Amino acid sequence: MNVRRMHALPGHSARAALILSLLLSLFSAAQAASPIPAGHTPRTTVIVFSDRPLQPDQWRLLFAGLRSGLAGGAETQMLDQGADFIRGDDLVPGLLLGFPIVVFLHGDCTLAPAARRTAYGVPLGWVHRVDGRIDPFVHVDCTHIGEVLGPQAARMSKKRRAEVMSTAIARVILHEWIHIVTQSPAHASDGIEKAQYGVADLMGGQ
Ligand SMILES: [Zn+2]
Repeated sequence: MNVRRMHALPGHSARAALILSLLLSLFSAAQAASPIPAGHTPRTTVIVFSDRPLQPDQWRLLFAGLRSGLAGGAETQMLDQGADFIRGDDLVPGLLLGFPIVVFLHGDCTLAPAARRTAYGVPLGWVHRVDGRIDPFVHVDCTHIGEVLGPQAARMSKKRRAEVMSTAIARVILHEWIHIVTQSPAHASDGIEKAQYGVADLMGGQ
């Protein structure tokens, strides 16, 4: 969605900066214990934090959606196909992280039926560019995604709503992950790198 320019880390990102410094210190400690051979690219580890607790099924569906989205398109081939996905609350000291990408899920990630769509043109996800560099932090606004998909959800079973929401969150994460890997705020006219997502983009052809 969008790349927000920031010259210094504001309060909003203070937690993200703290988490990254923690991750990098864990990473350094792990590297010291088990150095990666020269020429070997560290594997990407995508660590997902959620403001509100997710059900075990939501985590499983989200990681399944990320894996299938990662393998499913030409645009995502540039991303690390061997990436690991872990829950932020499963982080333990000494875990070998590889190259970390940290995802924050904001708001309500449970899709609820709605009579009408209540969000248009709002950011569904974003990354920050600080001093010209796009940080490896992805922010996803679950509440806004739900406001876009709400009318579709009215005709779905609870199980189907969970699947659709997981796919939508995964697609927003993959979009932002591409910004991080390419270090570019550029968008495409269609596909996963579109600047604005509608219902079809979030559902990913499901
Ligand atoms: Zn974007």
